[in-house]
Amino acid sequence: MTLAEFIAALDLLAAEAPARIAAAADLDAWTEVRNALVGRQSGRLTDIMSGLGALPKEDRREAGQRANGAKAAIDDALEVRRAALAAAAPASGPTIDPTLPARARWKGAVHPVSLVIDEVVEIFRELGFTIALGPEAEHAWYNFGALNFPDDHPAMDLHDTLYLGEDQVLRTHTSPVQVRTLQQYPPPVRVLAPGNVYRRDFFDPSHAPMFAQIEGLVVDEGVSFADLKATLAHFARRFFGAGTKTRFRPSYFPFTEPSAEMDVQCGVCSGAGCSVCKQSGWVEILGSGMVHPAVLEAAGLDSERYTGWAFGMGPARTAISRHGIPDIRILYDSDVRFLDQFTR
Ligand SMILES: [Zn+2]
Repeated sequence: MTLAEFIAALDLLAAEAPARIAAAADLDAWTEVRNALVGRQSGRLTDIMSGLGALPKEDRREAGQRANGAKAAIDDALEVRRAALAAAAPASGPTIDPTLPARARWKGAVHPVSLVIDEVVEIFRELGFTIALGPEAEHAWYNFGALNFPDDHPAMDLHDTLYLGEDQVLRTHTSPVQVRTLQQYPPPVRVLAPGNVYRRDFFDPSHAPMFAQIEGLVVDEGVSFADLKATLAHFARRFFGAGTKTRFRPSYFPFTEPSAEMDVQCGVCSGAGCSVCKQSGWVEILGSGMVHPAVLEAAGLDSERYTGWAFGMGPARTAISRHGIPDIRILYDSDVRFLDQFTR
């Protein structure tokens, strides 16, 4: 085939198409005409296009452009005819009773805890953090031993931890992800690890046996407590608002030294004292600290060369204080009347 023959075939199709389209008397006929003209299986255009490969290489570009032009013109004509036929078609099917009340339309909402997680992830992503994940059924060594828990630490008690076997637990915090990440990736490390954790707790207004946690970890050479403070204070201002005040209180965790808990000034009473902040004016947001050298060593890093900081927060508690939710169990009830209220 030559380019001239190819173009002639296109011109013929373009010349025939309008009359055939106009002749389609209903939507069924229209569909038939469309398939005959531009159908992918057996349409005339497809047929013509199949000759494209047989053309000399230098002619293919022009041939392709002309074929596209022809297709666009036929598609336009088809659409005009289809719209006209659809408008003229008599109403079919059951008749509509416009006096009936409308059906309620359900629209999904994002869970308030997921909203918090998404926002936290977004803020730390801006700072160059990536997401790290770990298993919920975790080896006891990752959950405790590698994190510098002494052998007789009460957290390891059957009373607090759900054991799956001799050495396997449902992780009680997201901190095992710290060790797994450090084993896998050389510093510099900047990760955020959101996930569910489990405790041997019964449901009550402020406890749940399963809840979400967000862990953050930074490890590199020369990382200091000043980095921790600056980053977490920045986070608080981004999350709670530009003027948010923060304070750090000394605390203790086996896997950080020194450790600190961060409070933000209560957003409900602006620090004056109310029921949400138990009259203190402050709300505890997260626990943090410099990664204990023993944790770095357990992950195979040289603790003389590297330092790091970490934090852990509970997005459910954050959601509760943010929205003044009186009972944590509401978060787990899957009651759409409650969940429906939260939108981005
Ligand atoms: Zn308050």
